[in-house]
Amino acid sequence: MAEQTHPETLRLYDADPWLSRFTAAVLACEPAAKGRSRVVLDQTAFFPEGGGQPADRGTLNGIQVLDVQVKDGVVTHTVAAELPVGETVTGVLDMEHRLDSMQQHSGEHVLSGILHRMVQCENVGFHIGEEATTLDTSLPIPPEVLAAAEAEANRVIWADVPVQADYPDPAVLETLTYRSKKAIDGPVRIVAIPGADCCACCGTHVSRTGQIGMIKVVSSMNYKGGTRITIACGGRALKLFDEMLAEQAALRAQFSAKNGQLAAAAARQAKELEEQKARAARLEQQVFRHTAAQVSEGDQPVLLAEGLSADSLRRLALALAERTSRPCAVFSEGGQGLAYALAQNGGDVRALCKEMNAALEGRGGGKPELCTGSIAVTDPARIQEFFADV
Ligand SMILES: [Zn+2]
Repeated sequence: MAEQTHPETLRLYDADPWLSRFTAAVLACEPAAKGRSRVVLDQTAFFPEGGGQPADRGTLNGIQVLDVQVKDGVVTHTVAAELPVGETVTGVLDMEHRLDSMQQHSGEHVLSGILHRMVQCENVGFHIGEEATTLDTSLPIPPEVLAAAEAEANRVIWADVPVQADYPDPAVLETLTYRSKKAIDGPVRIVAIPGADCCACCGTHVSRTGQIGMIKVVSSMNYKGGTRITIACGGRALKLFDEMLAEQAALRAQFSAKNGQLAAAAARQAKELEEQKARAARLEQQVFRHTAAQVSEGDQPVLLAEGLSADSLRRLALALAERTSRPCAVFSEGGQGLAYALAQNGGDVRALCKEMNAALEGRGGGKPELCTGSIAVTDPARIQEFFADV
């Protein structure tokens, strides 16, 4: 398709972002991978991916449009099947998806315009993702400035001012002060939102700010010397609110906490857990002491314990080693089969550790007096057999 030249596609969304159904002539249809086709029309209401805004979704003659791209003014639609060249097709847009794009994009303009006015920062990156909408600023934005900008952006949204998108005459354009990411050749499309913003942009926008619904700053982080701000506008803000309420309800049920008492309930439970951990450690230490008391000098204890953490394994092995000068081994489930700790008071278990790893498919090592690791062989008979020869 690159070799063929087509006239620039007439972009119907430029003049009417609410146009959801249109007819167009098929100028070209070329096969693409997976049985798909790339279709060029004389005119289209499908917005091609660009400027941070995703491609529109919908159908052409009932066939799903999978992607829309633009190059040198020619819009290419990737569709799931072939379309007849020379004939007229009907395009239908997924307006729910389009409205979502417009709410995020127009909301971003309102916030970027206000931030530009407040701290003279530029928007140097914008992306409407499936999950999140982000905008990057050229300067760091302090949290209190961001909060004030968000409040002002919502005031502009609720004032329901008109959003104007058009191509001013060059003479008029020269008199305008507008935000722009790059130098633009040819006609410049200006999107103006009175009281908030004036910006060069080729995206689709709502007709009045009220249609954005609301804008919520979800998070912000330092990013390349500026701030990356994640926002949710319109339907996305509502969806986010729903998700947060559902999560909160689940947590409230989990903690048996009333509204507003969740954080206190979680803190209480965390404290309780700490106390229980300390208590368990004390009890474990008592058991270890009792176990070690059964060991006498000259013994070579090999214990298969249950449910011990790596740290507990080490502590038990060291407790045993205090009672005998022979090597002591403790195993518990973990690693690739059984986790182990080998200890010898005043001795060196590294060679034994190496030998055991070879015999019982293990790995690990450590210091002369203490080695840790795990073995794949879990059969107690084979383990005892190995230590019988030590
Ligand atoms: Zn824009």
